[in-house]
Amino acid sequence: MTTVLNADLHCHSVVSDGTLVPEELAGRAARNGVELWSLTDHDEIGGQARAVAAAHEQGLKYLSGTEISVSFIGKTVHIVGLGFDTQNEQLRQGLRDTRGGRGQRAMEMSDGLAKVGIKNAYEGALTHAGNHELISRTHFARFLVETGVCRDTNEVFRKYLTEGKPGFVEHRWATLRDAVGWITRAGGMAVIAHPARYRFSTNEEFALFTEFKSHGGRGVEVVTGSHSVAEYAIYADTAREFGLAASRGSDFHSPDESHTDLGTLPPLPVGLTAVWDLLQHRVQ
Ligand code: AMP
Ligand code: MN
Ligand code: MN
Ligand code: MN
Repeated sequence: MTTVLNADLHCHSVVSDGTLVPEELAGRAARNGVELWSLTDHDEIGGQARAVAAAHEQGLKYLSGTEISVSFIGKTVHIVGLGFDTQNEQLRQGLRDTRGGRGQRAMEMSDGLAKVGIKNAYEGALTHAGNHELISRTHFARFLVETGVCRDTNEVFRKYLTEGKPGFVEHRWATLRDAVGWITRAGGMAVIAHPARYRFSTNEEFALFTEFKSHGGRGVEVVTGSHSVAEYAIYADTAREFGLAASRGSDFHSPDESHTDLGTLPPLPVGLTAVWDLLQHRVQ
């Protein structure tokens, strides 16, 4: 049975594309009533030591976390890892390899933007990146807002950074098998992040969930800042159908950009197994 707990197991710090440092996130989580927290930076665990220390300072329980970028049937899928050993060398190397291509990708994005008259976007994006190994589309979006090209980051993504747009560059991320394997072999649980975001067909989504399970994946985000209320119910059914544990997380990035704050989502639908009930032995 699910333990009702204010768990927020998905958010980002300046170590990836968030705007707050781990200590600010922990404080904000505590003020919002979070009891169990995880910092899940994209392809990075460089913020984990600070996050767990800050969590304990605030009286929060903590699970180690990351969000790995994966290429699956031509689309990017995100796999959250929870409760792994942050010292596991295979996981650390896998994350290093996954973020390794970001610098080159960013320069190519910048070239694409230059062709439509937006100059020095690479340098501009870097000024927003707290971690130069982790330059992301979000940092480009902040630069384009700062320079007045667009009103908000949503508009930047729509006009410049999504498939077919001038700043979009195809990229090969980790494989689903590798990402799930790294997390699982490091003692953690792999969780499909915000499944409704991918806009897969029924068959594609079936393939994702089936392959994910076959590689050892055990969880799916059901209640996330990226889902509508109707989608909570849809992915609650998917979790039951595939025998997956359910997760909950805001995907908070920034007080200025994120519409869902830490710890403010509704509880998981009843009758699901929560990921935190299976990860009790990994809670710090
Ligand atoms: P990247 O890993 O460099 O491809 O950047 C992906 C990140 O961009 C995601 O984690 C989100 O934080 C952000 N993002 C993606 N789509 C949008 C959007 N439509 N509006 C705002 N941010 C977005
Ligand atoms: Mn992000
Ligand atoms: Mn994501
Ligand atoms: Mn995220």
